[in-house]
Amino acid sequence: MTVQPIRLLGDPVLRTPADPVVDFDKELRKLVKDLTDTLLDQGGAGLAAPQLGVGLRVFAFDVDDAVGHLINPELHFPDEEEQDGPEGCLSIPGIYVDTKRRMNVVANGFNEYGDPVRLIGTGMMARCCQHETDHLDGVLFLDRLDPQARKEAMRQIRASEWYNADAPPTVKVSPHASGLFR
Ligand SMILES: [Zn+2]
Repeated sequence: MTVQPIRLLGDPVLRTPADPVVDFDKELRKLVKDLTDTLLDQGGAGLAAPQLGVGLRVFAFDVDDAVGHLINPELHFPDEEEQDGPEGCLSIPGIYVDTKRRMNVVANGFNEYGDPVRLIGTGMMARCCQHETDHLDGVLFLDRLDPQARKEAMRQIRASEWYNADAPPTVKVSPHASGLFR
């Protein structure tokens, strides 16, 4: 059993930019397995290493029965098309808010053995790649919302059973936000 506890909003690790993976070793492959097992157990679309308390640029995904992982992802957007739809996060349980994302993404990175891989995603897969890569920069989907939607989401979060008033969440501006969103 390699299902691990997921860190929740308010945990500083979720606000800390993760480091690039340098060693593609056994330890890394254990991390990929933990991420994948925990994601499949929890039933989300993606899970990033900081959500397990590990500050490395790795995420796992499970979208439309495609299960995999990406290490040191670099996102490129082939066009300007956007999508808007409900988004959630395993670190912010029970909260779903319409979030604007790019519709198409090309994600370059590596697999657990250090081989270069390219993920071409549209729709949900593109949304997942953007959401998870944000995690690696310490950014959460709440940061992508307009002020009014964020305020409403925060109201719901404060009313949530898991919310810890001793560690209130902060909002951060995404380093990738410029030019993408109004
Ligand atoms: Zn998330």
